[in-house]
Amino acid sequence: MGSITISKVTKHFGALEVIPPLDLHIEEGEFVVFVGPSGCGKTTLLRLIAGLEDVTSGSVAIDGTDVTQVAAARRGLAMVFQSYALYPHMTVRENIGFPLRMAGIGKAEIARKVETVAETLNLTGHLDARPGQMSGGQRQRVAIGRAIVREPKAFLFDEPLSNLDASLRVNMRLEISELHQRLQTTAIYVTHDQVEAMTMATKIVVLRSGIIEQVGSPMELYNQPRNLFVAGFIGSPKMNFITGEKAAQHDAATIGVRPEHIALSKDAGAWQGAVGIVEHLGSDTFLHVNVSGAGPLTVRVAGELAVNFGDTVFVTPDANRIHRFDAAGNALPR
Ligand code: ATP
Repeated sequence: MGSITISKVTKHFGALEVIPPLDLHIEEGEFVVFVGPSGCGKTTLLRLIAGLEDVTSGSVAIDGTDVTQVAAARRGLAMVFQSYALYPHMTVRENIGFPLRMAGIGKAEIARKVETVAETLNLTGHLDARPGQMSGGQRQRVAIGRAIVREPKAFLFDEPLSNLDASLRVNMRLEISELHQRLQTTAIYVTHDQVEAMTMATKIVVLRSGIIEQVGSPMELYNQPRNLFVAGFIGSPKMNFITGEKAAQHDAATIGVRPEHIALSKDAGAWQGAVGIVEHLGSDTFLHVNVSGAGPLTVRVAGELAVNFGDTVFVTPDANRIHRFDAAGNALPR
């Protein structure tokens, strides 16, 4: 249970067309991540699926049943927001049990289900606390608990981790992934975060201006981006793009090479350049190398590297990892 089919869905806000006709099929059990620049329609698409927003035209089906006219509360989906949306005056136990109480489920069954969910999310010791007494991560876990308790057909997450600090984000990311592994419930997840998209998704949907630019597994998008937009969007640091003479040598309008696919040497290599900013991350070093005829390139080197601003170095792109694009920005065969 939990397949979702979006057919020819459009969404207008007044004169503004946010989603032109869009088709997307999500298989049961998938973890689908919507990514794309701010304002591209990720949240709108999620809300259309949830039923929190009416489609202008087209249809949404869950498990093969058309739910376009079905109210949000009756679609069997659970939404987790970045703002948690917990009730401050209720305890954790009451917050998690709330959707069941609304559904008219008996007290004993609510108590049993809430206990099970609390165990799943390591919240057992906090059931009598109120949200105001908890950390951001714990609150988000309660919000997830409230979603899980309904045993929904799918979870819809709207940037659930963006209010958390960096280390907590990493923990919660792992927790959500682990939860998905265990429950195997379909999940749709909206994020700005590259790493979240790459690490959590079974399938990434890259959106631009309400249009799907590419759908695929994280590694498909990383290895075979269909166009310049996807190539530039997936991967961090970003892929380097080179035009002009050096691209023409590869029979392309633009070539792209990821920072991790450029070798660096102090002695010899394909292109000579001058070292700009050097960023030491400990595990990696990111160098910005100014290559004449190619512009500034970002190069990623594993570990520490003894180079300084202004040093002369040589860079060599891995010929097998060069991406070629035509003048319209579409990928050419390797
Ligand atoms: P972000 O990453 O910044 O959250 P997003 O990709 O989720 O952006 P949406 O929030 O879906 O984008 O918004 C898509 C477009 O629709 C934007 O141009 C936005 O201004 C517009 N929009 C969203 N909701 C409404 C609304 N209720 N009324 C009018 N315009 C809206």
